[in-house]
Amino acid sequence: MHCYHCGLAASESNGVPSCSIHGPLWKLVQQGPTANVLVERGGLILLAQRGHEPWYGHWCIPGGFQDFGEHPEDAARREVMEEAGVEVTLTGLLGIYVSRYERPHGQDWIQTTVYLGSTDQDPVVNDGEMLEVGLFHPDELPEPMLPSHLVRIADWRAGKAWTWTHQDGAGSIEG
Ligand SMILES: [Zn+2]
Repeated sequence: MHCYHCGLAASESNGVPSCSIHGPLWKLVQQGPTANVLVERGGLILLAQRGHEPWYGHWCIPGGFQDFGEHPEDAARREVMEEAGVEVTLTGLLGIYVSRYERPHGQDWIQTTVYLGSTDQDPVVNDGEMLEVGLFHPDELPEPMLPSHLVRIADWRAGKAWTWTHQDGAGSIEG
């Protein structure tokens, strides 16, 4: 990680990359990139109950922050495995969302790529991040739900998934 003003190598200080000349490099941490997956299995969706702040005890669709240099698809699959112990196949893109996020240094925003996915495995609590995981019918969601994730589930139910049409020759320099 390097300073975007001068190119010097950045050091980490309380989780914030910092340049010895220019100080904290906020562009590298603000509106941090995250990835979620709305995982479906037989008409049920996979939810996890958060075991940490912010939103302790709230139910959410699995996901988390991308590692530095990590593609959101890889982060999405990794987080579902870490939080719910299942291999997920990504099947589409629901959308890209920007939402508020509480950090120790104050209010921030995160930008989340939300995928659609499926699995044929049973979820299990797989690490210390989540209190409980399970499959739920969209009409019988557990409470409390993370408000921003309720919006994503509603978008999915309304058929708002991002779609595009692959056309013959698309991406070609010919024709
Ligand atoms: Zn610098």
